[in-house]
Amino acid sequence: MHFYSTNNPNHIVSLKDAVVKGLAPDQGLYMPTEIPVLPKEFFENLPKMSFREIGFEVIGALFIGDLTRDQIKELVDHTLAFDAPLVKVEEDVYALELFHGPTLAFKDFGARFCSKLMAILMEGEERKIRVLVATSGDTGSAVANGFFKVNGVEVIVLYPKGKVSKLQEMQFTTLGENVTALEVDGVFDDCQTLVKQAFSDVELNQKMLLTSANSINVARWIPQCLYYFYAFSRLPKNNKKLAISVPSGNFGNLGAGILAERMGLPIDTFIASTNVNRVVPDFLEGNPFQSKPSVATISNSMDVGNPSNFNRLLALYGNDEKLFREKVKGFYFDDVDTQKAMVQIKEETGYIMDPHGAVGYLGLRNYMKMNPGEYVGIFLETAHPAKFKSVVDETLGIDLPIPERLMAFMKGKKQVLEMGNSFQEFKSFLTTDFTDGHR
Ligand SMILES: *Cc1c(COP(=O)(O)O)cnc(C)c1O
Repeated sequence: MHFYSTNNPNHIVSLKDAVVKGLAPDQGLYMPTEIPVLPKEFFENLPKMSFREIGFEVIGALFIGDLTRDQIKELVDHTLAFDAPLVKVEEDVYALELFHGPTLAFKDFGARFCSKLMAILMEGEERKIRVLVATSGDTGSAVANGFFKVNGVEVIVLYPKGKVSKLQEMQFTTLGENVTALEVDGVFDDCQTLVKQAFSDVELNQKMLLTSANSINVARWIPQCLYYFYAFSRLPKNNKKLAISVPSGNFGNLGAGILAERMGLPIDTFIASTNVNRVVPDFLEGNPFQSKPSVATISNSMDVGNPSNFNRLLALYGNDEKLFREKVKGFYFDDVDTQKAMVQIKEETGYIMDPHGAVGYLGLRNYMKMNPGEYVGIFLETAHPAKFKSVVDETLGIDLPIPERLMAFMKGKKQVLEMGNSFQEFKSFLTTDFTDGHR
């Protein structure tokens, strides 16, 4: 599979280049030059297939020219190491729970796929491959856990000292092995600046292969299409049209759903559900796209005022804004609406939604009300409610237990290297073989 840049259709690169570079040199997003459509038999067989079997067929259709069948199997098996159950919440309304991975959010799927794909693509590369991540909390844990124990790739997480929560910090500082945590005496922006400087340092880049594994990387984006196929396969038989609501921030997850639809998955309508950071719902209403400064909400992983995947969505519809607006409906909700929905669903059904999932639920419910009886709907539950424990506890008046796999991090041993915030220090750290020291 080849990829073009959304800023220049004539800039075409290989899978390896797209994955290592992450972003095109012209700052465009990489997109597949061709999207394969899966055969009818595949869709007929779906209900009989396991998540991994489905993943093998879908990734196979995309990457068969780039990877061997064994590599595709290795990649898919590593990625789909936990389930994504479809849970009935109300009549014709299902939650697709994407939070059963190590860091309790859907980003675990992309991080695991990305790590394994990088390792496969870099086989035989002589330089050390290092993934640099600056984090204010969540990205560091998803990437570190996704890459943990993947041979041939080192991960370096830079985080601001004293500025991430204890639980988040423990998720990337207790791993060890190929994951090194650097506690930077500074703020998040210092960490990000250090990483950017490293990427543009000629000498460093001759010695080692530095990459970012950031959220717009195709290796994190593409695997997210897999659970749309899986959700469809587990939906009870019905004669209704399918609507899928995606609680969105940077719109990578929704874009991956559209990719699945472009590959032939019969999704009638997508619902772009956001909090008050509503630039995409505003666009879908007919306004020109206009980024805005982000506003803080209780669904804070979606507090995005300039969604980085917007051009990817447009590209998936052949840059046809009319078609885009036909297929995708936008809804946005404030924190009061979100909390009301969390309370109502808990009281009526016992189901506990996190604030992001609740935004997804609301978008779906609103759309289904406008079209009574026509649809069966799925909303993506993107995070475990315990990940947003203080909001969930306060909203529902409960004391939600923290899942065992998250508590386990708290029992680990914190291993960090402390560092000031000068690039000289970071560079000398990168050029000494620090990794042998703590093995
Ligand atoms: C990242 C994230 C989102 C937003 O996903 P996008 O792909 O950026 O739209 C939604 N919910 C949770 C819990 C997240 O972590």
